[in-house]
Amino acid sequence: MQTTFTPEQLTDPGTSRANDILRACVHCGFCTATCPTYQILGDELDSPRGRIYLIKDMLENERVPDEKTVKHIDRCLSCLACMTTCPSGVHYMHLVDHARAYIEQNYKRPLSDRALRWVLARILPYPYRFRLALLGAKMGRPFMRFIPDPRLRAMIEMAPKVIPPVSCNDDPQTFHVADKKMRVALMTGCAQRALNTDINDATIRLLTRLGAEVVIPKGQGCCGALTHHMGKETESHATAAKNIRAWVAEMDAGLDAIVINTSGCGTTVKDYGHMFRNSDLAANAARVSAIALDVSEVLMKLDMPEGDAKDTKVAYHAACSLQHGQQIKTHPKTLLKKAGFTVLEPADSHLCCGSAGTYNLMQPEISGQLRDRKVQTLEALKPDIIAAGNIGCMMQIGSASETPIVHTVELLDWATGGPRPAGLDRNGPQTPQVPILR
Ligand code: SF4
Ligand code: SF4
Repeated sequence: MQTTFTPEQLTDPGTSRANDILRACVHCGFCTATCPTYQILGDELDSPRGRIYLIKDMLENERVPDEKTVKHIDRCLSCLACMTTCPSGVHYMHLVDHARAYIEQNYKRPLSDRALRWVLARILPYPYRFRLALLGAKMGRPFMRFIPDPRLRAMIEMAPKVIPPVSCNDDPQTFHVADKKMRVALMTGCAQRALNTDINDATIRLLTRLGAEVVIPKGQGCCGALTHHMGKETESHATAAKNIRAWVAEMDAGLDAIVINTSGCGTTVKDYGHMFRNSDLAANAARVSAIALDVSEVLMKLDMPEGDAKDTKVAYHAACSLQHGQQIKTHPKTLLKKAGFTVLEPADSHLCCGSAGTYNLMQPEISGQLRDRKVQTLEALKPDIIAAGNIGCMMQIGSASETPIVHTVELLDWATGGPRPAGLDRNGPQTPQVPILR
């Protein structure tokens, strides 16, 4: 694609990177075939190629973003299916991230939008604030029909019925092992710590059982993805910088990997090197990204023992951030099969479930359609269990499926001597079913 940025414009590192990405696009349109929003809405401007044109026009002309451009960029899930499909290697993620930051700096959203985004950015990345908000949402549920904004209704409806007690395993500490094969830091996350403490507990049990010493570093927190996807660079970089400092302190004491069990966070941490490329933290950010691994990648190195064949059918949901963001497609299925589960895959497994960070709260209508489509394809397999590697997908699918959904590590932990995952004994949807708001 030809671009017309001036030499002066290209002195800005963000614009220069956008220029390189835009020039790689040959407008072939292959990406439209796998874009969930294009499939649902059928509008070229809701396809990757359409969005690329909108971003190009906005950046080249240094335009104040208009409502139309913002609407179509906001509707993008950042699922990155387009990156998997693109034959030209267009790095859509960096392009849309830059466009979102540009919009955040140059566009004045309606007051209700600004208020909503402000609240989300100040609650979701902080586990204790998020817990309080979940309690508030539970109390607000009986009054939901009086709330006119569908996004606020979606937020209340997504709150789980049961809020787990705080897990002391998430506090800074070291889980020692007798016969140490590796030393890893576990990123305990933010929203996950409020919504489901079983996942980190199972991860720690599993890793230590397989010989990995697990450190919960002091000072780590949200990876920054939630605010990064809202274009709030100052906030996302501030939380990411704290993580880099916390992890580098542990790396200096010897660390083989930073283990991440929320694939949405993993995609972002693996991109810290790019996010901080022009800052004082560039070298350390690159070091962090180089050893950031999804938990399934670490488990593949740890030689998990084979489990007996079980009469249990697991439908594996591939989170977009894992299959497209990190290009990890086989590890979770290989591990589940090795543990003795029968692994099934749904039709259209490349398509997003509609969770996508805060997308299900900001765009409840499109998100609801994607969720229902995903649940349909998963339940068509008649599985005993659904497994996923990302808390966002688990909440989204769990809100509409009768089949219990748990994290892949919970099943692997169970198969290698851990307790039966608590999520398996749950009846019906984990959260009340969210009506599709059309
Ligand atoms: S598939 Fe790649 S090169 Fe083709 S239009 Fe999409 S982004 Fe551009
Ligand atoms: S990230 Fe997903 S929703 Fe956004 S343009 Fe690419 S395929 Fe479409």
